[in-house]
Amino acid sequence: MSGIEHRGDATPYLPERKTLKALREAAATCRGCHLYAPATQTVFGDGMKRAKLMMVGEMPGDREDRAGKVFVGPAGRELDKALEAVGIVRGDVYITNVVKHFKFEERGKRRIHKTPKKFEVDACFPWLREELRVVRPEVLVLLGATAGKALLGSKFRLMDARGREIDSDLAPFVTATIHPSAILRAPDDEARHAERRAFTEDLRFAAEALANERR
Ligand code: SF4
Repeated sequence: MSGIEHRGDATPYLPERKTLKALREAAATCRGCHLYAPATQTVFGDGMKRAKLMMVGEMPGDREDRAGKVFVGPAGRELDKALEAVGIVRGDVYITNVVKHFKFEERGKRRIHKTPKKFEVDACFPWLREELRVVRPEVLVLLGATAGKALLGSKFRLMDARGREIDSDLAPFVTATIHPSAILRAPDDEARHAERRAFTEDLRFAAEALANERR
């Protein structure tokens, strides 16, 4: 966590007791980096401690920032559809993001998502590290390049890693796929359908791994 832009991290805000409830409450007042100031609220991970499957995205979007909940906007709907298609119940998944505050740029009345910088990802990382320690998933799915780089290092290449088992000690089974917002950014219907199909197949791979881990 070096670099001239780095100005601290979430560590001083971690609670003594590392339960999900305590972590969520403590994260609500985190000032570990500058992103808390313009955002509405912290959007912490959601799900049960005993979840066997954990998914990690990039950061909350506009809807999530207003609702205070992960993956409730358009990308969340894509995720829900794909989960349903492969027989995974969303309530059985622990879903979180690498960065817990929405980073955006205002254009008129719209708030446009801005990709978090490495120093912001590093600042927020203590929360994700603790979520992983508490949940200890059997299957970990990284949604997009930001999550991949945050957890596996800067050499992570999403297109090489997606839909495959990744060698990592983060969980017994680790894999990656696109962030579902990439489906929404597809240039036309045909490309969107193709992205959606490929995303669903990647999640099917994770669902099969989950079934195998349970055996
Ligand atoms: S983005 Fe993370 S580190 Fe920065 S203030 Fe929000 S919760 Fe804290």
